[in-house]
Amino acid sequence: MAGAAAACRPPPDVDTDDCLPEYRPLLSPDVLRGRVALITGGGSGIGFRTAEIFMRHGCQTIIASRSLEKVTEAAKKLAAATGQRCLALSLDVRQPQTIIAAVDEALKEFERIDILINNAAGNFLCPASALSFNAYKTVMDIDTLGTFNVSKVLYEKCLRDHGGVIINITATLGYRGQALQVHAGTAKAAIDAMTRHLAVEWGPNNIRVNSLAPGPISGTEGYRRLGGKHAEASSRFNSIPLQRAGNKTEIAHSALYLASPLASYVTGMTMVVDGGSWLTLPNDFPALLDLWATEANKDK
Ligand code: NAP
Repeated sequence: MAGAAAACRPPPDVDTDDCLPEYRPLLSPDVLRGRVALITGGGSGIGFRTAEIFMRHGCQTIIASRSLEKVTEAAKKLAAATGQRCLALSLDVRQPQTIIAAVDEALKEFERIDILINNAAGNFLCPASALSFNAYKTVMDIDTLGTFNVSKVLYEKCLRDHGGVIINITATLGYRGQALQVHAGTAKAAIDAMTRHLAVEWGPNNIRVNSLAPGPISGTEGYRRLGGKHAEASSRFNSIPLQRAGNKTEIAHSALYLASPLASYVTGMTMVVDGGSWLTLPNDFPALLDLWATEANKDK
């Protein structure tokens, strides 16, 4: 029984954007040896931990986001903890010219880029009735258009000729119409569709394209902003089949599987990594509206 329970036990993690004090690989530590991954939004949260876990499996990484200071700081920590090379670059996924410049810069350092993790995103709680036109557009621009922009640049500069793997980090918000999340839910649903379209068109170039949809993941900005601590305190997580939030290492491990040769025949799919939460977590519009109103009043 103890062995069976271990299959649901979370791996160690730390809540901050720091590397794990110790790590025991479950796959061969060479599984990504010689590979190079570009991770957008890799300076924090899920992107940071994914960079770390990939590097602990032999991968070199490029982490890129708007704040060069943030990614530079993160790259130093990642290289020190793993002994692998990590290049920090600034880009805005909404602006193709900044992506082209960053990828050109990366290709001066690395012969090629094999793996792309489209992880950059923006989110907040807001009822549709209070959402400005611009707020909705901003989330669509960063999440959906940003994913297409970076994928297309990398396809043209690298993946078309060499093949590779694209992993789009999405969410389960649209599956049941999560309250206060119309902006992110629709943006991520569009990315899941994009995953299938690109898997079909780019499969002949030996490119696998998949989505990875996390549930509530502790130690992230998303978790803090979207009321994860509140749900934990009010025991709402008891309604999740696995009875807890996930952690960043669990998402990174799933991304590692999708990027590795273990997933060599997996493309065009969305892998949900949420402990079963989208099936059962309450989608309680009045309660979330209260939470939103409380948070909005705090800012006044
Ligand atoms: P996070 O730490 O806030 O990561 C988002 C990253 O995106 C930041 O490092 C940010 O860096 C970057 N970014 C934002 N706008 C950008 C832009 N225009 N161009 C380039 N980079 C940009 O959030 P997280 O919670 O770890 O989320 C990571 C991913 O998981 C997101 O796709 C999110 O939707 C998804 N997800 C998270 C959860 C969760 O519980 N946390 C659940 C479901 C899905 P800069 O500010 O420096 O640009």
